[in-house]
Amino acid sequence: MPGPLATTETGPTVSIVVPMRDEQETVDELYRRLTAAMEAAGVSIEILMVDDGSTDATADRIDAIADADNRVVAIHLSRNFGHQAAVSAGIDRATGRAVVLMDGDLQDPPEVVPLLVGVWQQGYDVVYGVRRHRKEGLLKRLGYAGFYRLWNAISDLDIPLDSGDFGLMDRRVVEVIRFLPERMRFLRGLRTFVGFRQIGLPYDRSARGAGSSKYDLGALIELAIDGLVSFSGYPLRLVTRLGLATIMTAFGLLGWVLVDAWFRHSAPQGWASTIVVVLFLASVQLFSLGIIGEYIRLIFLEVKGRPTYIIQERRTRAEAGHEGPAPGPHVATRTWTRER
Ligand code: UDP
Ligand code: MG
Repeated sequence: MPGPLATTETGPTVSIVVPMRDEQETVDELYRRLTAAMEAAGVSIEILMVDDGSTDATADRIDAIADADNRVVAIHLSRNFGHQAAVSAGIDRATGRAVVLMDGDLQDPPEVVPLLVGVWQQGYDVVYGVRRHRKEGLLKRLGYAGFYRLWNAISDLDIPLDSGDFGLMDRRVVEVIRFLPERMRFLRGLRTFVGFRQIGLPYDRSARGAGSSKYDLGALIELAIDGLVSFSGYPLRLVTRLGLATIMTAFGLLGWVLVDAWFRHSAPQGWASTIVVVLFLASVQLFSLGIIGEYIRLIFLEVKGRPTYIIQERRTRAEAGHEGPAPGPHVATRTWTRER
């Protein structure tokens, strides 16, 4: 469970959470552009850079930045826990009156963050980025478009089309989300779930600054399935309907067989048709078992109650107000304190 409520009286106005896995090429530019944009806007910030088990120089880069700038906190997870878990680790330690989530690969332009803050200051609780253009491959774009439309067709909750995690949440929204008991965190779904005053802000999504996407097609499909299973009972109902449909078909066929046996005796020899029916029913059953299995997998994960992430160390120039809330019992943190 997350730690106690963050004290935000003395903290920064906005906390910016950036998950990073092997982003050594973009860290410095991100830091430079982000701080420049926020200074120009006159908004006080803290940046929580979450190193999600990087295997390149990302960890050293963000440590160096955290050592030089007391607004930056470096959080190192004990291994790779995945994007959503890394974001959760940052959110749990953010102390700002609002929290911004953004990717570490410069796809979410740092210059848009002050615009999010501006809309928040007009009184909105959630300001999410809506992608006007995606500079990604056709296949990926089609996949995303298909996913969001499928989602809205079958889930119990409509998430805004073409919005990702990039966005800002007010402290009260953050507190609600942090204390939701779910460990499988599909943040854009949870953010929609909690409600409050929400608004979209259109922006142009850039191409990756450098490096390659950490989500291959398989990982994206997994994220999509986990999201759907967490937020929709429709696939289970679909199984029931499939079952009903095959029962009705079976009864229809039975009627036909009886009538034929009685009056005409013209029943076909039927090897091929039997095989087709057997295969069809077997695959319907396996498919249904698979769907049920997905739900059981999530129940299993939740019931085990393992933490969403584990922090190995946290590095900050330990200034007052930059400590963040106390870590939960499952996380071991070491805090470096450096002389100025
Ligand atoms: N990321 C992470 N852990 C992972 C995979 C990705 O922290 O296991 C970070 C990654 O460094 C980036 C963000 O999550 O800052 C989004 O990942 P990516 O750009 O690979 O995804 P895409 O933009 O292609 O959807
Ligand atoms: Mg990206």
